[in-house]
Amino acid sequence: MARGKYVRHRKIGRTIAMAALALVAVVAVVFAGIALGRTLKNSAKLKKTDDPAPTMQDGVQPSQGQTGTDPAPVQPDPALPDNSMQLRQELLEQAETLRKGYFYDEAIALLENGGDLKNEQTDALLQQVKQEKNALVKYEDSQLYHIFFHSLIVDPSLAFDGDYKAAGYDQYMTTVDEFKAMLPLLQEEGYILYDMTQMAELVDGKTRMKEIWLPEGKKPLVVSIDDVNYYDYMTGDGFATRLDVDDEGNVVTIVNDEVTYDGDVMPILDAYVKEHPEFSWRGAKGIVAITGYAGAFGYRITDLPDYDEATQQWMLRKTEEVAKALRATGWQIACHSYTHNQYWNKKTITAEQEQYDIGRWLGEIAPYVGDTNIFISPFGVSFDKDDSRFRYLVDHGFWMYCPVDSKMPSYCKDDFFIQGRINLDGLTMKHYPERVTRFFFDPAQVLDPTRPK
Ligand SMILES: [Zn+2]
Repeated sequence: MARGKYVRHRKIGRTIAMAALALVAVVAVVFAGIALGRTLKNSAKLKKTDDPAPTMQDGVQPSQGQTGTDPAPVQPDPALPDNSMQLRQELLEQAETLRKGYFYDEAIALLENGGDLKNEQTDALLQQVKQEKNALVKYEDSQLYHIFFHSLIVDPSLAFDGDYKAAGYDQYMTTVDEFKAMLPLLQEEGYILYDMTQMAELVDGKTRMKEIWLPEGKKPLVVSIDDVNYYDYMTGDGFATRLDVDDEGNVVTIVNDEVTYDGDVMPILDAYVKEHPEFSWRGAKGIVAITGYAGAFGYRITDLPDYDEATQQWMLRKTEEVAKALRATGWQIACHSYTHNQYWNKKTITAEQEQYDIGRWLGEIAPYVGDTNIFISPFGVSFDKDDSRFRYLVDHGFWMYCPVDSKMPSYCKDDFFIQGRINLDGLTMKHYPERVTRFFFDPAQVLDPTRPK
């Protein structure tokens, strides 16, 4: 297995790093802000040794109000550091990034704890943040939105080369160019990426919808990617071969043994949200769904005996690193069954087969990618709620169930949550364009001209 050289293909702007940092770095941003505040407090001889340390909840979201309050009076300080202008600028940029990504409480805390850096500029931004927070409206529409993809085609000339797989790729896959073209169109339509696990909750054995608050007119959008396994059959067909993590914690794609930032949905969406934080509600990105029979993320961790000891360890470590980096950057991970066997598609799966399938995913994949409540059904299959095979999934923790349904219904019932998804692939865009147009955009605007006619 090639291990890929770490060739940087994209320069990360140093100067605007603070402002442009994706929400993976929001935590760091807040920390930096606190450190900044501390520096100034120290310089103003208002040193407090009992500054509450920020507490974090899981994921990318800094907890609310974690910086506490600072009752110490701000005193004029003749020894304000020479670089205070620059520090204030950084503070403003950090708060602005938080504001754009709807981290209102965090932005308010940062600005209110600005110490000697506070002035009319920081006050104006503080007022703006408070106004925007107060202007949020409760989303009352029962229609939620969930689109999904498979791993993107990076090189259409290889995917659509006329071999026996080309027709399948044309139906079930989306190209990098198409996906990139969709993002501004979705944003223009008022969509904001939203964490599906924040749409419903399980309380005392019953599920219920959670309140969603967004700016007026905005709509919550969930994105998922199925089969992020980089199967052997895709080799040489113009796809990435695995995921990895760069030095800054970004999830990257490995394409032709080189690190790239646009080899699949994840790094492309990460980069887009860095540039357009307003497209994501508090850092939400989407759901990465994986099977198990070919390992995870391109690492064949369920075929370990085929590899030498060092490669085995490397694959296991990489799988964990990628999963951790995904979760830290706003992604969820979902079970997409272990086998993806046709017995799911035909709904002939027996209790024994399901026990084997789900058992292997829970036993051999979950330990490396983490636990999940999300089941993205293979082939988009759905079961009757009383079907014992559906109950088996719910009873094993998968109470968020996502079939394929172009109308994208979402509802809670008993102890589970259902959310239908629409595939924005060649099949839908070429043959059922109205399903896309009525919610999102005209697929003709994005269809890749390199697709087979
Ligand atoms: Zn699948």
